[in-house]
Amino acid sequence: MNLQEMDQAYIASTYRRFPLHLVRGKGSLLEDDAGHELIDLGTGIAVNSMGIADDLWCQAVIDQLTTLQHTSNLYYTDPCVRLAQMLCERTGMKKVFFSNSGAEANECAIKAARKWAAETHGPDCYTIATLNQSFHGRTLTTLAATGQSHYHELFQPLTPGFVSFDAQDLGQLEALAHQSSLAAVMIECIQGEGGVIALAPDTVRNLAAFCKARNILLIVDEVQTGNGRTGKLYSYMHFGIQPDLVTTAKGLGGGLPLGATLLGEKVQNVFTYGDHGSTFGGNPVCCAGAVSVLSRIDDTLLNEVEQKGLWIREKLLATEGVEEVTGLGLMIGIRTRRNAADVVNEAMQRGVLCLTAKDRVRLLPALNIPMSVLQKAIDILCEVIAS
Ligand SMILES: *Cc1c(COP(=O)(O)O)cnc(C)c1O
Repeated sequence: MNLQEMDQAYIASTYRRFPLHLVRGKGSLLEDDAGHELIDLGTGIAVNSMGIADDLWCQAVIDQLTTLQHTSNLYYTDPCVRLAQMLCERTGMKKVFFSNSGAEANECAIKAARKWAAETHGPDCYTIATLNQSFHGRTLTTLAATGQSHYHELFQPLTPGFVSFDAQDLGQLEALAHQSSLAAVMIECIQGEGGVIALAPDTVRNLAAFCKARNILLIVDEVQTGNGRTGKLYSYMHFGIQPDLVTTAKGLGGGLPLGATLLGEKVQNVFTYGDHGSTFGGNPVCCAGAVSVLSRIDDTLLNEVEQKGLWIREKLLATEGVEEVTGLGLMIGIRTRRNAADVVNEAMQRGVLCLTAKDRVRLLPALNIPMSVLQKAIDILCEVIAS
């Protein structure tokens, strides 16, 4: 059996993989099993923030790996405490709970919101409103939070206590708040899996004001948008709001599994001993990688992310066959005249890896992708889109 046949024989068939076997890479370049080079504009879905096998990140990870790889959360370790301090200092949030994925970061935020609401507003206050077209994960609870019914169909019953609404329709949210007592509103400022759809700045501010006025928690899911991706450390920072809970994962660990739930002032003390936990959460190797990533996401890098994003947008908008460009920074959605999946497949044949999101082409390149590499990739992508 070749690798593809073995995969089909032994791996659960949840993923429709591309016919591509990747073996190594460096920075924003990948190599397949035939020795072909590819430019990576997908970063393993916004995970490899500093590219592949980045020297500083590798050094931080290897140093920790060869010193102490795991302890459990029964003991103190340096990398996880230092990472939590960095996250709090750079966001104004008060405390952090570490897990291993985006879904788990959201589960933790949902548990925190439910406990806070029960204690603050009473046991009947547990409903969480999320946006239509949102994506919050694949566990039964985060699926319930995901406002796309096609993900729900085969897995009933999901966790109760979730309702969804249209971001622009504050009236709908008000009606929901009337019908059931709302504990929290949960949003992505830019919906990633939903098609790289950015909320209007006013919408974000109105939702934040709505929550504040009614003492409802605002949860911002920064699993995809976080850690410099949009040109700010977290996407909510574009809008001058302060969420009560922020969740993140994907790019935080720079390539290792790590999720974080940041607790703001209202909920900072909601958890007590035994309320929540994770065996691997806050693993020292993952956290050492994250400290390395986060310490490099400074104003200079964020400015570069913004500038590169603007440059890509300009190139795309001047390309025949591009109908709309959405997103912020280096999180870009492209509505193309051609079928998006065809564009992605053909770009792959020509040595450029990108993604789709719904009916769009999606780009999530490394935050530090060199301009020359980016130029080459975008030239190819534009040719494919225009063809
Ligand atoms: C990817 C994603 C998740 C789920 O993260 P996992 O690590 O796959 O569990 C949740 N929310 C958003 C916005 C995401 O993009």
